[in-house]
Amino acid sequence: MISKESFFQLNASRQWPAYEDPRPDELFSSWLTRIAHLHGLKVETFCKIYWKNLTFWNRDIDRFYYDKVSAVFLANSRITPDKLRNTFLSSYEGKLFELATYKTNQNWIIPLGIYHRTRSGYGQMYCPRCLYNDEQISKPYFRKSWRLSLSFACVDCGSWLSDRCPNCNSPVVFFRNEVGFKNILPDVNIARCYRCREKLSNEQINMPADKSIITLQTTLNRCLIAESPPIDFLVYPFQYLDILHHLIRLINSKSTLLAQLRHSLCELNKLEYWQPIGSYRDRFDTLPIGERMKLLLLAHYLLEDWPSRFINVVYPIKRLRSAWLLKDLTSKHYWFDYEVMFHFYITNSNR
Ligand SMILES: [Zn+2]
Ligand SMILES: [Zn+2]
Repeated sequence: MISKESFFQLNASRQWPAYEDPRPDELFSSWLTRIAHLHGLKVETFCKIYWKNLTFWNRDIDRFYYDKVSAVFLANSRITPDKLRNTFLSSYEGKLFELATYKTNQNWIIPLGIYHRTRSGYGQMYCPRCLYNDEQISKPYFRKSWRLSLSFACVDCGSWLSDRCPNCNSPVVFFRNEVGFKNILPDVNIARCYRCREKLSNEQINMPADKSIITLQTTLNRCLIAESPPIDFLVYPFQYLDILHHLIRLINSKSTLLAQLRHSLCELNKLEYWQPIGSYRDRFDTLPIGERMKLLLLAHYLLEDWPSRFINVVYPIKRLRSAWLLKDLTSKHYWFDYEVMFHFYITNSNR
């Protein structure tokens, strides 16, 4: 443990002495917490040193690349601007979504349900086995992809992801692990429940995922790479993912007409029909992990072999036509609109 004063003396060279680069796919807040702890400081103290007037933890710090925050990292470490930018969720711009928005919820990012410094949402997932493997070589850390509603399984471990403490069901709030202690503990480990201190890491895979589930996750992960678009002619991943998100909303709707679409898709995928849960206001991104996986499976299936499968599945549902299929579609994409209008547009003359 070092004092604030000796930290500054050590840091006279303006290079953090115990600095470490972010690990692969590491999330900004995880990296920030690790760097503070590597220097023997509580992350709260560390933040107060550098960003005295910035309210840090009562917002989703990982969502955007903030100049005020990044300037400190660029000045005190050898990190490159690109590497630093890549630790924020806004680095998914042009992939998961066209533009990172600042004010509203963003498709595919699970909200944390922030209330002051507490979290009511299960927006921070993790793979217990990955955390365990991290512990064997270094300190555990949290991945960016564990904040995405597109993620439900770990393809490396063949396991479902988890989003809560296995003991007390609390959400994961790793920066609060030090709350209640005057100084950080020498063996502070961010892979523990902040409330009951239960280990989040686990050598055993308690929730193995079927091969088909891992295959789906692998396919969806690949959607994020522009070089292998799920539909040949698409250039940017978000052109596909915007429509995937839109179709999920339709499939998860409580309307009787759209329930027919859900029925057909369940039947074709040999999945037992289930009623949408929650109110119509519940966004896909906040649904439980298993629920999200099933919806992703159905929507992804509907877009395979584009456009023939889509036409074949939708056509028999007599009243499901363009007005419904394009309802509340916020991001227009020509490849989708065109087929919907061409095959499912109803005028008075063709009614
Ligand atoms: Zn894993
Ligand atoms: Zn707990």
